[in-house]
Amino acid sequence: MATGTQPRDAVIIGGGHNGLVCAWYLAKAGLQVTVCEARPVVGGAAVTEEFHPGFRNSVASYTVSLLNPQIIADMTLHDHGLRVVERPIANFLPIDGASYLKLGGGLQRTQAEFAKFSRRDAEALPAYYAMLDEIGDILRSLAQQTPPNLGDGLPGLMRGLRQAGRLASLSLRRKSDLLDLFTKSVRSFLDGWFESAPVKAAFGFDAVVGNYATPDSPGSAYVLLHHTFGEVNGKKGAWGHAIGGMGAITQAMATACVARGVQIMTDAPVRQVLVDAGNAAGVELADGRRIAAGIVAANVNPSLLFQHLVAPTDLPAEFRTRIARYRNGSGTFRMNVALAELPDFTCLPGKAMAEHHQSGIVIAPSLDYMDAALHDAKAFGWSKQPIVEMLIPSTLDDSLARPGRHVASLFCQQFAPLLPDGRSWDDAREKAADLIIDTVNDWAPNFKTSVLGRMILSPLYLERKFGLTNGDIMHGHLSLDQLWAARPLLGHASHRAPIKGLYMCGAGTHPGGGVSGNPGRNAAREILRDRSLFTALGLALRGR
Ligand SMILES: Cc1cc2nc3c(=O)[nH]c(=O)nc-3n(C[C@H](O)[C@H](O)[C@H](O)COP(=O)(O)OP(=O)(O)OC[C@H]3O[C@@H](n4cnc5c(N)ncnc54)[C@H](O)[C@@H]3O)c2cc1C
Repeated sequence: MATGTQPRDAVIIGGGHNGLVCAWYLAKAGLQVTVCEARPVVGGAAVTEEFHPGFRNSVASYTVSLLNPQIIADMTLHDHGLRVVERPIANFLPIDGASYLKLGGGLQRTQAEFAKFSRRDAEALPAYYAMLDEIGDILRSLAQQTPPNLGDGLPGLMRGLRQAGRLASLSLRRKSDLLDLFTKSVRSFLDGWFESAPVKAAFGFDAVVGNYATPDSPGSAYVLLHHTFGEVNGKKGAWGHAIGGMGAITQAMATACVARGVQIMTDAPVRQVLVDAGNAAGVELADGRRIAAGIVAANVNPSLLFQHLVAPTDLPAEFRTRIARYRNGSGTFRMNVALAELPDFTCLPGKAMAEHHQSGIVIAPSLDYMDAALHDAKAFGWSKQPIVEMLIPSTLDDSLARPGRHVASLFCQQFAPLLPDGRSWDDAREKAADLIIDTVNDWAPNFKTSVLGRMILSPLYLERKFGLTNGDIMHGHLSLDQLWAARPLLGHASHRAPIKGLYMCGAGTHPGGGVSGNPGRNAAREILRDRSLFTALGLALRGR
């Protein structure tokens, strides 16, 4: 191959956490692996950067729970510096000028908080958690398995039966809960459990994270579930903070990869997947260099892969039609702000650090508020009352800002992936950012004046910076038509593209978005399965 580097067994397009995980498992099996990352740093959306002089933060992805403990153990990430700490409580929701709801810190504490709004909801909580626990256990296990794949013949059928068997072991009551979670809107699901608006808001928020939908959209209950089956240091359902930010996770992964002999190339954007006689043959970088490899695994969004990095002539026409319908656009707007002091909430006054400052602060006091945010966004691009989650990681981690100073992540939902009337996010971003700051200021009146600097990541900028198509933080909607055996497309849920030797290993494959590492690990398993089959076949043929 012209202007090439040494041929490799496998090349990974993208050094996001899933690309690194995939690379590590392949290298562990003895393959020579190269990771090509477009940015100057690996980690994809899980990176820590200095966004204002003296202030560092997890600039995109900002909190950890979904990361598979088996991957942490296999890659010995703790030995490579990873440390994850829990928050004292999970969430704090200002409800109005005088009341708030705290979630977490133990069942009894949360029940006491719920009882402020509804005694019945407080009583319903243990059963609700038990249900999520039981269903979460099953999903955790399914997340680590390749879905049954249409067209895989007997092996696919066997896989389907095994996974169905796990579901069959659930009681009828739980099967019905599971059906609700997969099909209902989050409002209709939560209406079956709780009566008070703040309690429903506290749980319903998870259903709109990375989901450009209303709490009334059928299927939105699944997105709530998607955010509950993680764990932190063995505590199921908890969300925590990686000391040093999310970049500490991916830097530990990169170190583990290098220790296994993985070659990592940064500033190395891939321009095209090379295909020879229907087989993947390597990649061509934007600077013209070529890397030959019989295995190519793409960590990028499937739309980006198949619509920009693979020549249309290398794909079947029916596949091109279907991938063109793959839906992207999570409606996320992200800001990082440098703060001179902590926010002083009207409903819970005080600037001295308290547990609510260390939690996920959710500005979305009801499902109706979340519903309006989506409708406004569809009409105008965003709502005058946007959904904002604020996390202040410097309250748990003194490596991010100087003593007394703070950094905050503002994760904002229902910002149109593409603005109506042909407007560009390049023109609208500052205006939207001002509104977000004003929104937080409405609840904590010292906020605006405490902002020393800000970094704005509109949906368009998320696409430019991280290669996230339409700014989709999940690499594609988490809706029933794009989940499990249909992620990214029916017939391709086993990580295999319609080109031999080309695989998908990013969040656009099962089980979807979030910093879990599961897509990368599952893809590596399928690649190694093909490779051992290939080797066995080769040996058998040679022996004849
Ligand atoms: C704003 C935001 C907030 C989030 N918050 C959370 C959170 O708090 N917790 C959580 O668990 N998840 C969160 N997520 C979701 C999570 O970060 C993603 O789902 C996850 O990072 C996907 O990982 P990945 O490795 O599959 O892909 P990515 O992280 O997207 O990595 C893909 C990599 O491919 C590279 N690339 C793109 N094109 C090319 C090319 N042509 N050649 C070479 N390389 C290329 C990109 O630069 C990138 O490094 C958030 C995401 C965003 C964007």
